[in-house]
Amino acid sequence: MTSDPDAHTNPPVDGSELIRFEQVTKRFGDNTVLDRLDFSVDSGRHVTLIGPSGSGKTTILRLLMTLTRPDEGTITVAGERLHPAGEKQTREIRKKIGMVFQQFNLFPNMSVLRNLTEAPVTVLGLSRDEAEARARELLDLVGLADKCDMRPTRLSGGQQQRVAIARALAMRPQVLLLDEVTSALDPELVAGVLDLLRDIARSTDITMLCVTHEMNFARDISDQVLMFDEGRVIESGPPEKLFGDPDHARTREFLGALL
Ligand code: ADP
Repeated sequence: MTSDPDAHTNPPVDGSELIRFEQVTKRFGDNTVLDRLDFSVDSGRHVTLIGPSGSGKTTILRLLMTLTRPDEGTITVAGERLHPAGEKQTREIRKKIGMVFQQFNLFPNMSVLRNLTEAPVTVLGLSRDEAEARARELLDLVGLADKCDMRPTRLSGGQQQRVAIARALAMRPQVLLLDEVTSALDPELVAGVLDLLRDIARSTDITMLCVTHEMNFARDISDQVLMFDEGRVIESGPPEKLFGDPDHARTREFLGALL
């Protein structure tokens, strides 16, 4: 059989480049939020984005989810350009990427189980039985096997965020985007959610992009930390280097202010 260069390629093997931003500029009115941004993430890596509020970190995750578009530049995921992309291609890209938001964004009128089965059935075409089996496994993983039939609003914030993490994983994405996932939680609920994410980072080969102010967590899970300021990466490196001996005065100042 001859190979078809236009056919969808297989997911890249570990270590190959999965995400690339090339000269990406994003403006909101006069506000240039990302300024000719370049960076790439290899498959299976866990990358944390840090930097002051307003430096464009959330915008990067939203661009990857195709929730917003760049003004200039190119973003590719698994070799496919995100913009411009047709409806079908956008759907395919979204299947590769799961996102967990600060505010959980669960479907309030569905049971916990249904929150996890809805997209696998409607988007991936799984049978309801397959989707439920996968959902129950994931709820077990996040310690909520006994909450299947409850509405999410009856759960604590920490439990809701665990459901949101399980819901994202139910789509078996190649990439998991985590946007300040503990910042809406009461302090006593933060550690449990971070421990869960540490377990996921350790036990799966999912690529993770994580925006967080939890520097201990970032240090534990990251292979690489990117420090943003004014819409650019000003410094990047392994967590030991970036947290232990940063090169850039702005990084030192930012980390110092968090202590
Ligand atoms: P960070 O996650 O680093 O705090 P964001 O990506 O959320 O930064 O925001 C970067 C800048 O873009 C901020 O100045 C913010 O006000 C602005 N911004 C983000 N989204 C919008 C939007 N939809 N409309 C206008 N401005 C926006």
